[in-house]
Amino acid sequence: MEPQPLEWDTPMYRLAVAQLDRTARIMGLQENIWHRLRTPQRAHVVSFPFRRDSYNVVETVFGYRVQHLTTMGPTKGGVRYDEDVDLGEVTALAMWMSWKCAIMALPFGGAKGGLRINPKEFSQAELQRITRRYTSEIIDVIGPDRDIPAPDLGTDEQVMAWIMDTYSQQKGFAVPGVVTGKPIEIGGSAGRREATGRGVVTCMIEACRHLGIPVEGARVVVQGYGNVGSVSARLAVAAGARVVAVSDVKNGIHNPRGLDLAAVDAWIAEHRVLEGFPDAEAVSNTDLLELPCDVLVPAAIQNQINGDNAGRLRCKMIVEGANGPTNLEADAVLSERGIFVVPDILANAGGVTVSYFEWVQGLQHFFWSEDEVNSKLVTLMQRAFADVLAIAEERKVDMRTAALIRGVGRIAEAKRRRGIFP
Ligand code: NAD
Repeated sequence: MEPQPLEWDTPMYRLAVAQLDRTARIMGLQENIWHRLRTPQRAHVVSFPFRRDSYNVVETVFGYRVQHLTTMGPTKGGVRYDEDVDLGEVTALAMWMSWKCAIMALPFGGAKGGLRINPKEFSQAELQRITRRYTSEIIDVIGPDRDIPAPDLGTDEQVMAWIMDTYSQQKGFAVPGVVTGKPIEIGGSAGRREATGRGVVTCMIEACRHLGIPVEGARVVVQGYGNVGSVSARLAVAAGARVVAVSDVKNGIHNPRGLDLAAVDAWIAEHRVLEGFPDAEAVSNTDLLELPCDVLVPAAIQNQINGDNAGRLRCKMIVEGANGPTNLEADAVLSERGIFVVPDILANAGGVTVSYFEWVQGLQHFFWSEDEVNSKLVTLMQRAFADVLAIAEERKVDMRTAALIRGVGRIAEAKRRRGIFP
């Protein structure tokens, strides 16, 4: 008889496991550690009733919080609001968080959470109520020494403020350290909102240097113009590059001469969507990936670059702002075609790195200037990039495998040192 599939067994989980398995074989990873790392240490599924603004309408909502690994310290990872989120997706994201923290040598294991909702359909009052109820459902498993949520797809600093407030109300005193990515007024860090994009662009600059591509004038395409995508675009332009296309969930815009991002931002502020932006051609999200450019930054959702389209991409490098945008089939094609990939677990690690800074500043009640945060972030990103590149060159593997060797290797060593309880 076929064994029953595990509860979290979905395509995204299978991608995270396949990446781990491939790396574990190359590294000769000890089998018991390998098998333990394939599954979450703790997986929480919650459901609760939620009252819409229209008082008599009550819906049942599903939520998740997965903690992949508690070996390295408290667990850390974002909370995602998306109608397609499921236990497998959250588990895969929690695994990637473990590797990411280990690559950056941060004292955290990986976690991730999510609510299966479309936040765009909710009023602010509804979002506040749903966030507070979700927080109270997972209140026993989060905490500054336990598990620390942060923003991700569909959530922002306001959502973090509500989580912090709900947790603090239960404890009876303010506990800012329970989340990162908070507003500055309640203990957030300068530079956190831009941190992921800043890390992406730092990796882009380092990769350009490595490949001998001038940053000045480099053509950049960004899929997803949310937190990560818009900041990456803005900082790429500040570094001298030219952003030729960006997109949101509906549509993309393309101008080979370079987009005026200030005008794009003003358009979004007025219309909420990119669609209709003058001075650019409309392009679909799938066609956008295949535009000719030097740097492609997927910064929206997972599973965008696959066996079907990898052969048609016309970029020199991919810097993964999103989590899991490229599948294994595509990795093989890209590697064969000589397209350099800076993997998500390195490229988008700037967010969790400044989250770490925020947590440290909060614990010390001593806050740093934005310049200090940014320069510490850039130093750590450059060091991690060099570290992973050195492994890639020494072991003749691609950057994803090298990053995994670094992250999984650090975790395996910590597990070996701690031993097995009891
Ligand atoms: P966000 O919600 O601020 O922005 C997401 C963007 O992607 C928006 O422009 C949205 O319109 C677009 N989008 C959503 N669904 C899409 C779809 N189906 N097709 C095309 N575009 C779509 O989210 P974010 O925080 O910028 O996160 C984006 C990605 O970066 C996610 O994969 C997230 O896990 C990853 N990430 C975020 C952070 C962070 O600090 N926010 C850190 C590391 C990784």
